[in-house]
Amino acid sequence: MHKKWDVIIVGAGPVGSYLASRLAGCGLSTLILEEHLDIGRPSCCSGIVGTSCLSSFPIPPRVILRETSSATFYSPSGKTLRAATPNPVAFVVDRPMLDQSLAEHAQELGAVLRLGMGVRGLKINGEGVTIQVGGNGHDDLHARAVVLSTGFPSSLPEVAGLGLIARWGIGAQAEVPVNGLEETEVYLGQGIAPGFFAWLVPTTPGKALAGVISSQTGPYLQALLKDLRQRGKVKSQESQICFRRIAFSPRSRTYGARVLAVGEAAGQVKVTTGGGIFYGLVCAEEAAQTLKRAFGSGDLSSRSLAGYEKGWKSRLGTEFKVGAWARSLYGRLSDRRIDDIFARVQGSDIVPTVTGMDDFSFDWHSPAIAQALKHQALQGLRRLFPFRDTH
Ligand SMILES: Cc1cc2nc3c(=O)[nH]c(=O)nc-3n(C[C@H](O)[C@H](O)[C@H](O)COP(=O)(O)OP(=O)(O)OC[C@H]3O[C@@H](n4cnc5c(N)ncnc54)[C@H](O)[C@@H]3O)c2cc1C
Repeated sequence: MHKKWDVIIVGAGPVGSYLASRLAGCGLSTLILEEHLDIGRPSCCSGIVGTSCLSSFPIPPRVILRETSSATFYSPSGKTLRAATPNPVAFVVDRPMLDQSLAEHAQELGAVLRLGMGVRGLKINGEGVTIQVGGNGHDDLHARAVVLSTGFPSSLPEVAGLGLIARWGIGAQAEVPVNGLEETEVYLGQGIAPGFFAWLVPTTPGKALAGVISSQTGPYLQALLKDLRQRGKVKSQESQICFRRIAFSPRSRTYGARVLAVGEAAGQVKVTTGGGIFYGLVCAEEAAQTLKRAFGSGDLSSRSLAGYEKGWKSRLGTEFKVGAWARSLYGRLSDRRIDDIFARVQGSDIVPTVTGMDDFSFDWHSPAIAQALKHQALQGLRRLFPFRDTH
């Protein structure tokens, strides 16, 4: 007789492991399957999270590499805007360490983790879920419910009959040695990062992460690194580049009978920045509450699990709508227009007004966008803003 787990979670990224800790903590037998042998590796992430993320989830201080309370933004022609806050609003975490610590936490609460277990397929029926990990069926695993927290590239959510992710971009990043970089720099311009932006984020003394998110593939990161070397900001010619797709819209359906998709597998990523850790953890919390209720009532039907999607949309729906609007507007701006907006903002008090808001946050962007658009200097953009109340 095969063991039947209450829940099998596919993918031990931060989202899968956090959810496992919540389910195991409620007494559900929980198995996490991770295809890699090392948790958190290979890594392709800057690891920037905000204060709400740190205060809401079990992220230990030892994973924090650096606190961030300022950043300088560069326009295509080199105009600058500096945003600074009295206290840190963002933190750079060691991403492999974050993943490892959340996986350890899940195991301490009773979840079982198996590494080197790539899930190849799954079958869902009225009796339960069969998870295929080997080629011949001998290694199949069984559960009452499955959670797909595989990150974006996996085809498993589609195999499980969940919807599609309509919009996505490409993220590329390299760790580089730097000359005395003190704060994060963000570079804007359709020639630098079409539709998105590039960054240089200091991590530990003498080191930084240089990265680009763009709507198209292309040698954008190589061009950025060349430019940063020529300007003396980056020291070495050598840098190993990682690439990964980033979801920019939620999956059209994130639940079904006995199955949920959570985290980047569900497209739960900030549309404005591509950050997926916080949204993924917020949605994992919704998934934990829905599954706890469903197991309590013995009803794992699609109708019973629909509460998960309702829950995460009620928490993040406005952020997704406003973020998608801002992202789409920015994607249509020419470099000249971006420069013009920089000039208007430079000549105004928009930056201190926004960073001085009581609820200014790296985790929640819609209030800051709405506040900036209220300013006289951005009236032209305000007229295009279709939302009345964003909070
Ligand atoms: C260049 C770049 C920079 C980024 N910077 C930031 C940032 O600063 N802040 C931020 O919040 N976000 C950032 N992100 C996004 C962030 O990395 C992701 O949104 C986040 O990792 C999503 O977490 P997750 O747990 O949903 O998925 P993942 O972290 O992708 O974890 C999924 C796990 O599932 C495993 N898996 C996949 N398929 C299978 C399978 N079939 N069987 C078993 N295991 C499987 C994978 O090996 C992986 O361990 C960045 C992304 C990129 C590309």
